[in-house]
Amino acid sequence: MLCRPLMRFAKATLMTDTPPRPPRTVSATPPIVVAGGGLVGMAAALALADRGWSVNLVSGSTPPPDGRTVALMPQSLALLDSLGLADTLARSGAPLEILRLIDDSGSLFRPPSVAFEARELGLERFATNIENHALLKALSARIDDHPAITVINDQVTGTKDGNGSRQVLLAARQDIETPLLVAADGRRSAIRTALDIRVAHKAYPQVALTAILRHERDHRFTSTEFHTRHGPFTLVPLPGRCSSLVWLTSPEKADTLSGLDDDAFGRAVEDQAQSMLGKMELAGPRGKIGMGIDRIDTITAPRCVLMGDAAHAFPPIGAQGLNLGLRDISDLLACLDLSSDAGAPEVTQRYQSMRHKDISTRTLGVDMLNRSLLSPYLPVDFARGAGLLALASIGPLRQFVMRQGIGR
Ligand SMILES: Cc1cc2nc3c(=O)[nH]c(=O)nc-3n(C[C@H](O)[C@H](O)[C@H](O)COP(=O)(O)OP(=O)(O)OC[C@H]3O[C@@H](n4cnc5c(N)ncnc54)[C@H](O)[C@@H]3O)c2cc1C
Repeated sequence: MLCRPLMRFAKATLMTDTPPRPPRTVSATPPIVVAGGGLVGMAAALALADRGWSVNLVSGSTPPPDGRTVALMPQSLALLDSLGLADTLARSGAPLEILRLIDDSGSLFRPPSVAFEARELGLERFATNIENHALLKALSARIDDHPAITVINDQVTGTKDGNGSRQVLLAARQDIETPLLVAADGRRSAIRTALDIRVAHKAYPQVALTAILRHERDHRFTSTEFHTRHGPFTLVPLPGRCSSLVWLTSPEKADTLSGLDDDAFGRAVEDQAQSMLGKMELAGPRGKIGMGIDRIDTITAPRCVLMGDAAHAFPPIGAQGLNLGLRDISDLLACLDLSSDAGAPEVTQRYQSMRHKDISTRTLGVDMLNRSLLSPYLPVDFARGAGLLALASIGPLRQFVMRQGIGR
């Protein structure tokens, strides 16, 4: 069952979004192939088609809703607005105006809680939080109507370097040739494996539990993150008196919590949130996702670019994953020119160099933050506590961190 305001918003949204602008010119070259019907693949297919490229989207399978949401920052919102999703975001999303960090690690150096306010940066909001499923449905509706996109309901099984093109192998259909393959096939990318691209994967002793909850008190558009010894426990505002939960905890505790019925789970969330929002009730499906980090130095191959979780994957700390994936799309668009070969070496090389710093700094930042929480060592606790104390008391430092966090 979806939270009632969410259902109303999602329903209204699909009926009222403005249709995409038809492309001014359409490329005469064979279609670009986008692999992956997740948020990044769909947004990439739409963005390319709106710029005049014809696109074959090999969609893969759609996972069922699992209570996941994404907080989208200003640059991401601008991209999605340009794809005709402004109404969906306005109706199904909630603004995130204040971010509160509370140390709940039991550390000896317990710092004060820190509140970041968007208005300190002259912004109305840091981000808009929206259910993944609502966003996927809206993107899918746009794609179905787009004259330049053909959806192929199939799986990519491999890829080969062709003669002046890339061959894309499909599970149930004939192979296709493309000037450029955009691999947005998620963190277990089959395309990345077929290309023999090296991934440094590290598993964390953490599992993320996700859910959407209805609560007694208003969230006042404040996202609250409790830093526990097993990772952050975060409640992020949704429309009405609803919030999404991302609870990073140990695999053992995650198993216990997953075994609870909905009422008992609601009570466990309320206890962990120190009853900050009053009584909590489940308002949708629950999810459970294992955590790890993927460092991938090379995100291109001849006539192929990786993007989204296929190119970078890390735990949901600081709401960076999809925002980074949408910046992959913006940078790819900046590398392409409708009058030139989409898969030319200059394009893939430029994409690799444009994306490298953003991806590596975000990956490192999230890894360090997460490890500082998991570490049992006092000096690490002290450094983290001192950092939070500095953020609480030094305005310019706080503003700098806020700007970095939202990708400015
Ligand atoms: C709990 C949680 C909370 C998060 N919160 C935030 C947040 O607040 N803000 C934020 O920016 N990010 C957040 N993220 C990260 C964000 O959700 C992901 O980065 C983003 O959804 C990744 O999208 P994607 O399209 O790259 O990958 P996926 O969603 O994994 O999509 C991949 C797609 O490829 C398809 N596919 C797979 N294999 C093949 C194949 N062989 N052929 C064809 N298709 C294939 C799959 O079926 C799927 O549709 C969060 C993540 C988690 C786990």
